[in-house]
Amino acid sequence: MNDHSSTPGADSSGTPAAATDLFSKFDPLIQQREQLLAAGMQDPFSLVMEKVLSPTRAICNGRDTILLGTYNYMGMTFDPDVIEAGKQAMTDFGAGTTGSRVLNGTFQGHRECEDALREFYDMDHAMVFSTGYQANLGIISTIAGKGDYIILDIDSHASIWDGCAMGNAEVVPFKHNDIEAMEKRLKRVPEGAGKLVVLEGVYSMLGDVAPLKEMVRIAKENGAMVLVDEAHSMGFIGEHGRGVAEEVGIIDEVDFIIGTFSKSVGTVGGFCVSNHPKFEIMRLVCRPYVFTASLPPAVVASTATSIRKLKHGSNKRAHLWENSRTLHQGLRDLGFELGTKQAESAIIAVIMPDLERGAMMWEALLTEGLYVNLARPPATPANMTLLRCSLCAEHSAEEVQTILGMFERAGKAVGII
Ligand code: PMP
Repeated sequence: MNDHSSTPGADSSGTPAAATDLFSKFDPLIQQREQLLAAGMQDPFSLVMEKVLSPTRAICNGRDTILLGTYNYMGMTFDPDVIEAGKQAMTDFGAGTTGSRVLNGTFQGHRECEDALREFYDMDHAMVFSTGYQANLGIISTIAGKGDYIILDIDSHASIWDGCAMGNAEVVPFKHNDIEAMEKRLKRVPEGAGKLVVLEGVYSMLGDVAPLKEMVRIAKENGAMVLVDEAHSMGFIGEHGRGVAEEVGIIDEVDFIIGTFSKSVGTVGGFCVSNHPKFEIMRLVCRPYVFTASLPPAVVASTATSIRKLKHGSNKRAHLWENSRTLHQGLRDLGFELGTKQAESAIIAVIMPDLERGAMMWEALLTEGLYVNLARPPATPANMTLLRCSLCAEHSAEEVQTILGMFERAGKAVGII
């Protein structure tokens, strides 16, 4: 028998070789999960909301639960105008678009959404994607090509990293929020190469804010274009809710702002806004925009309505800041270790000693009737286990006090405070 006639994968005796189980790389994670569940713990990553009552309340495991782990910062999910716009669009335009934005998938609602964004940010161009994840994936991988350099914060969101991985540029990370480290990396980029600095306004794990003013200035001095992901600041930070770049007065220096509808806007989808004169070409060359179906009519109609209402949300913004500061101060007074010295955004991260006690605390809070996010590596920086609390403008001051009482009882029961 010659080599050509043997069975592929079989050894010389003809016995098929044992297949390598491609799942074996997940064994440590499977084991860790099984250990937690064997200890009688509820799976923190498969909670079901049996009914959602409002932006701040849902029925979980049959009980009324306060939601402190959603990104519903401005409470727009139950806004009557937002809901009505979606219902009407579903009636008028149907359930879905069944196509890409560049073929049959651009309806009136997509245009209105982009108009609302242009107006909200006071920028020339707006491009709507099906998710924020895809917006980062698409814009980053498309604008930074072979021979270009992406200089990014090491704690960047997964969608930013995946955008880097999908493209062909050189990727140079720098230490989180470290201005000098960023400058050093920038100065090492070879003469003449294209440079894109990628930053976030608010970093979602610890809820800390980037020193955008200095970083954007340095990026510009070094001839880089700048992209800022303002997913967690839209609608809340800055005079018009445009984000941290607006708050610190450098929004005009930013080349691309990425955002999402899945947080303050209260729906789903992503976008990029820009004043770059050639920006519209992105619609033809950006693969995560071209090769996927567009958002359904109900979503874009609700989204456009929500963005327009967010423009007038300054009272809500003030109340959200109040909630955030009260919760931060209260948790610190109780003895919890927090991700930031003071409240910098609507996210307050409570640092847990380890995953096991983090999961116990998460469950104790749920039993109290409070839902928070359990975050663990690799999503978290420095291998931390975090209980991430994100506040909503619809949490009442009284609710924030109730939440603090729940943290106190659960923290004492688990032995964290
Ligand atoms: N950027 C950041 C900073 C995020 O936190 C997220 C989602 N958590 C995204 C982008 C992706 O947004 P979306 O949920 O719309 O995909």
